[in-house]
Amino acid sequence: MKVDVAVVGNGLIGLCSAVELRRAGHTVALLGGPPDGRASTAAAGMLTPACEYDPWMPSEFLDLLRDGLARYPEFLGEFGLTAAEVGYRSTDFTLVDLAERTESLRPRIEWMTAAGVDCEWVGPRDLCTLEPALTPRAHHGAIRIRGEAVVNPRALLSALERTADRLGVHRVPGDLTGVEDEGEALRLVTAAGAVGAERVVVAAGSWSGQVGELFGLSLPVCPVKGQMLRLSGPPGLLNSVVFMPSGGCGSIVERSPGQYVVGTSEEYLRPEADNTAGVVAAILSRLCTVLPEAADWPVEEMWSGFRPMTSDELPIIDRPGDGRVVVATGHHRNGILLAPVTGRLVTRLIDGEHPGADLSRYRYGRTLRPHTRFATKY
Ligand SMILES: Cc1cc2nc3c(=O)[nH]c(=O)nc-3n(C[C@H](O)[C@H](O)[C@H](O)COP(=O)(O)OP(=O)(O)OC[C@H]3O[C@@H](n4cnc5c(N)ncnc54)[C@H](O)[C@@H]3O)c2cc1C
Repeated sequence: MKVDVAVVGNGLIGLCSAVELRRAGHTVALLGGPPDGRASTAAAGMLTPACEYDPWMPSEFLDLLRDGLARYPEFLGEFGLTAAEVGYRSTDFTLVDLAERTESLRPRIEWMTAAGVDCEWVGPRDLCTLEPALTPRAHHGAIRIRGEAVVNPRALLSALERTADRLGVHRVPGDLTGVEDEGEALRLVTAAGAVGAERVVVAAGSWSGQVGELFGLSLPVCPVKGQMLRLSGPPGLLNSVVFMPSGGCGSIVERSPGQYVVGTSEEYLRPEADNTAGVVAAILSRLCTVLPEAADWPVEEMWSGFRPMTSDELPIIDRPGDGRVVVATGHHRNGILLAPVTGRLVTRLIDGEHPGADLSRYRYGRTLRPHTRFATKY
């Protein structure tokens, strides 16, 4: 098989890139094997620039996160996807912390207000009205953020796979194992066959380091494991997504009526995509502390996946070297939010167009300190 562009990595970053490239008129192959530990199917699906941005990050990154949020509805429309089929909806977020840590939210609302986030401080009494299911004993106030969104990443991935098939993207169900430079084209070898491609997109998430090496690229992306659980409870119990910033990034998302997805941890050492007693216990304990009635809910499912993280926690989106390879990886906690906007940036880079955004913060080869965070947070 010969194509204009081969996309290596079949997570949401690769899929969004593949469908955008195909729509731009390229012949496209999408490579990727069985997704054990894939981040895109593990994610909660929160589309929240305000909760995920940290003020020590460059302000351009907040702009990129906001572009990611703004791009979603138009992206779905352009590919004929309905909000209902991918579980996309606009929602408020409630940022709470345990009572003894509530003061840690004050600096957050200060930078959010300064950055123009549509948010307000909500005292305990008002919080009881807004979110009656959250126990007032667990917190002393919250930040309410308006106008963000959620999506069901698994539903989005399946819908985009169907879209890719409909558009004629060749899906090659094997991991890339070798690359041969044939001058005009690169020959990409997988267990499912070889693909000739003039250009390549490396979008292999946490595995981008190994894949990059095959192209002579150094992509220092470290896998950060996160564990998630799904419980069933009464539908409509929460009026927003609950986000708890300390420890790991705790969150409660009602994915579909009565189905609550909760998590998660940030684990830097354990390479297995499994669920472990300590982390599951910590997630459930925090859930039941803020939402006591969840203590009686059945746990329906649990899983885990690996976030692709660079040491400055920013993605790498660039076209390094001789220009035949575009890199789109390192999306860490925000790859679901950033997938549609990344697909568009990748397509512009492949086409040699101006990306339409300042990508200097995300360039390949920038100075990245070694990964040093070896603790588990949950
Ligand atoms: C628990 C958890 C919760 C999260 N919550 C959110 C959230 O709420 N909001 C948000 O925006 N983000 C969230 N994220 C982050 C988000 O999921 C990731 O940033 C995003 O999914 C990364 O997408 P990706 O396509 O780069 O990587 P992945 O989804 O990991 O996909 C990489 C793909 O590359 C394939 N691959 C590996 N090796 C090869 C090879 N040699 N050849 C070909 N293919 C290969 C793999 O099989 C895999 O399918 C969360 C992540 C986790 C783990």
